[in-house]
Amino acid sequence: MREAMMPVYGPPEVVFERGEGVRLYSSEGKEYLDFIAGISVNCLGHAHPKLVKTLQEQSEKLWHLSNMFRVPEGERLSERYAADTFADRVFFTNSGTEAIECAIKTARKYHYVNGNVDKIRIISFEGSFHGRTLGAVNAGANPNYREGFGPAMEGFTHLPFDDVDAFNAAMGEDVAAVLIEPVQGEGGCREVPEEFLKLIRKKCDEFGALVIYDEVQCGAGRTGKLFAYEWFSDVNPDIIAVAKGVGGGFPLGACLTTEEAAKGMKPGSHGSTYGGNPLAMAVGNAVWDELTSDGFLENVQRVSAVLTQSLSSLVDRYPDLVDGLRGKGLLRGLALKIDPMKIRMKALDKGLLVGTAGGQVVRLAPPLIVNDDDVFQAINVLDTCLAEVQAESQKEGSA
Ligand SMILES: *Cc1c(COP(=O)(O)O)cnc(C)c1O
Repeated sequence: MREAMMPVYGPPEVVFERGEGVRLYSSEGKEYLDFIAGISVNCLGHAHPKLVKTLQEQSEKLWHLSNMFRVPEGERLSERYAADTFADRVFFTNSGTEAIECAIKTARKYHYVNGNVDKIRIISFEGSFHGRTLGAVNAGANPNYREGFGPAMEGFTHLPFDDVDAFNAAMGEDVAAVLIEPVQGEGGCREVPEEFLKLIRKKCDEFGALVIYDEVQCGAGRTGKLFAYEWFSDVNPDIIAVAKGVGGGFPLGACLTTEEAAKGMKPGSHGSTYGGNPLAMAVGNAVWDELTSDGFLENVQRVSAVLTQSLSSLVDRYPDLVDGLRGKGLLRGLALKIDPMKIRMKALDKGLLVGTAGGQVVRLAPPLIVNDDDVFQAINVLDTCLAEVQAESQKEGSA
C-alpha cells in the first residue's frame, strides 16, 4: 500500500527484501545486480559482514548521547579524516544536504569574523545538485527544486558549467565561496576539467574567497581516490562536504575544513542532535578501515578501467543511440540520444539496477567491491537493452 506515502518519488513495483554484496533479492526471490548502490551510497555493497558486525556490536553498547558528551569513536574518525585529507576540522552530519549547509555556514561565518560582513555570495554551477534543504536548493542549479518554496534566497549565483569568461566576470569581493562538485552526479556524471578547478582555486585566492567541494557523491573512493580532488594538483579545497559512501548505507555525512576556514565556528555556532552519534561513528570507522585498506583503491581503479573499456565498446557499437561516455572511476554516465528511462526500465526487467541523471544519462555507480565478472554481466544486460531499443526503432522506421 503506497497511498500514505508523500508522492515525491515514483518507484517501480519491485520490492527488495535483502542484499548481499553487489546483489539484491526481491520478495519474489528474483536476483538483481546492483549498479546504482543506493545512488552511490552502499560503497561496500549490501550486508557487508564487517559493517553488520560493527553495527550489531555498537547497538548493544550505546546508540545516542547527544553532543553534550564526548564520543570517542567520533574523535577517532575525525582524526582519521584529517590525517588522510587536506582537512584539520570535521563536523559530523546525518546527510549530504546537512554537510552542505555546514559548509556554506562555515564559509560565511569565516568572512563575518574577519570583519567582511557583506562577503556572503556563493557561486555554484549549472547541473549541480547539493541537496534538498532550503539552503541547498538555493545553492543547487535546478530551478524545479526551488519552485513553490518561497522567494529565492539572496546571495547565490548560478553560472554555466566550465565557462571561464562567465566565471571571471562573476568573481568579486562579495564572493564568500565557490561551491562545486569535482564530478557532477545528478547533473549527468560530468567531470569538471582540471583547468577549471585550477582557475577556481586561483581566483578564490585572489579574492579571499573559499573553495568548497561537494564530494557527497563522487567522494569516498568512488573515483578510485578517497576524494576526487586528489586526482589533481594545486586544487586543494578549504572545505568539503561528504556523505553517501562514507556511511556505507548508514546515514552519515561530514563537513571537513581547514583550521583557517573553521575559524568562525565556535561553541554554539552550529549543531545537530544526531550528527556524530555512536552508531554512525562506529560504522563510519569501519567503512574508512575498508576504503583505506591495502589495495582497496587500487582495485577500484583497476575495475574502473575495465568498466570504462566495456562502456566504450557500447558507445562504439550503438552510435545511433549512445552519445558518449562520461564521469570518472565508478561514477559513470552513458549519455544517450534517447530517454534513459527506457534503458533503466528494460535493465530492471533483466535484473540490473542502474540510475539516470541529467542530460539523458544512464548513471552507473556500483558498489566499489564489484569485480570484472559483475562488470561484464552488467554490460551484457545494457548491450541487450540497447539492441532491443535499436531493433524497436528500426521496426518503427520501416513500418
Ligand atoms: C545526494 C547528494 C547531496 C544530498 O545528500 P542527501 O544525503 O540526500 O542530503 C548533495 N550533494 C550531492 C553531490 C549529492 O549527490
